[in-house]
Amino acid sequence: MTGIDLSQQWFDRAVDVVPGGVNSPVRAFGAVGGTPRFMASGRGPYLTDADGTEYVDLVCSWGPMILGHAHPAVVAAVRDAAGRGTSYGAPTPGEVELAEEIVARTPVERVRLVNSGTEATMSAIRLARGFTGRTKIVKFAGCYHGHVDSLLAAAGSGVVTFGLPDTPGVTGATTADTLILAYNDVAALETAFHEHGADIACVIAEAVPCNMGVVPPLSGFNALLKRLCERYGALLVLDEVLTGFRASRSGWFGIEGVAGDLMTFGKVMGGGLPAAAFGGRADVMDQLAPAGPVYQAGTLSGNPLATAAGLATLRHATDEVYAAVDRAAEIVSKAVSEALTREGVPHSVQNAGNLFSVFFADGAVGDFAAAQRQDVRAYAAFFHAALERGVYLPPSAYEVWFLSAAHDEEALGRVLDALPHAARAAARS
Ligand code: PMP
Repeated sequence: MTGIDLSQQWFDRAVDVVPGGVNSPVRAFGAVGGTPRFMASGRGPYLTDADGTEYVDLVCSWGPMILGHAHPAVVAAVRDAAGRGTSYGAPTPGEVELAEEIVARTPVERVRLVNSGTEATMSAIRLARGFTGRTKIVKFAGCYHGHVDSLLAAAGSGVVTFGLPDTPGVTGATTADTLILAYNDVAALETAFHEHGADIACVIAEAVPCNMGVVPPLSGFNALLKRLCERYGALLVLDEVLTGFRASRSGWFGIEGVAGDLMTFGKVMGGGLPAAAFGGRADVMDQLAPAGPVYQAGTLSGNPLATAAGLATLRHATDEVYAAVDRAAEIVSKAVSEALTREGVPHSVQNAGNLFSVFFADGAVGDFAAAQRQDVRAYAAFFHAALERGVYLPPSAYEVWFLSAAHDEEALGRVLDALPHAARAAARS
């Protein structure tokens, strides 16, 4: 069989037993249409689907695969760990080593390991509320921190709005303590603190927003968050689930140098297995059970396979790896802009270090409202034309394009060859 017959068969089977046929919504190609490819294997910069078609992968599992797929050292570490048992429900040396690696690379003093970025941000918010004894949290429209109920909130009308539930199943009471502000809006931030400062437990922000496409913080914005939090006795939670150990060996902190009181990590630090973490100031983290009164726990937290994969990944994520990712990101981001310009397709490539995304709209994008003005139909045409030429892009116009150190000349060459075709498809859409 050729084409997508087997992916189609798997998808048909999947929708009978899994809602929408996928275990995380964006995988379903809902935003771009068509049949999602069911993947059978990955090696280096490539994915191979169930029908045997190979793609250059620009999703990289949405971030984790900074060394590429099936890196020999990561595979060996996981295989070795599995041979010693998959979970003990007791402390292990690997957890300590992974925590030490995170502490060495970032400003956090203590780390608690969890299984997903969602758990990390959920727990950080509980801890911030427990530590400060306050109720309200500030979140920015367009920042994504996982599917935490209180963070699945959309902005209402007005500059400083209390969140409205963004999905059925989240109650108004759950989002009522979430203040939603436009990103990069200094005046709204100052107003929010002026009006609610005594009740604000924390501000949570992506260190660089990457989930509405890449919207870099205005110069000094993260530092302002930090200063305002300090002045009003709130905590700053910087979410580096996506940027951590990817933007640089110390994440976005390594580039901008602003430390959160609490920080969240995931993706790269798990090397493709379920591992995430939150960490921060010792005096705050020591409020966590069993050291302190704020409860947080997990049967599989610090799982030996996950810590083995994470440690192997971080230990191989050397300066050369970051240089390679930076270079690959620069080559692809320049080439996509050139290809779209040549075809007259309005677009804006935005980057923060090696993180970049392509907005199918003219002009700089500074917040979520601007991000939503892009031409998602043009992106869908672009996406499918790239897929036909063997390039697997994020199936949504709002996502980062991820690269790895395994994206060598051969893989990058295939991307560059596909881009003109994709740009022509976007121009025709
Ligand atoms: N925070 C950020 C910044 C993220 O990008 C994500 C996931 N894309 C999360 C949190 C949630 O992580 P997870 O999907 O592992 O729950």
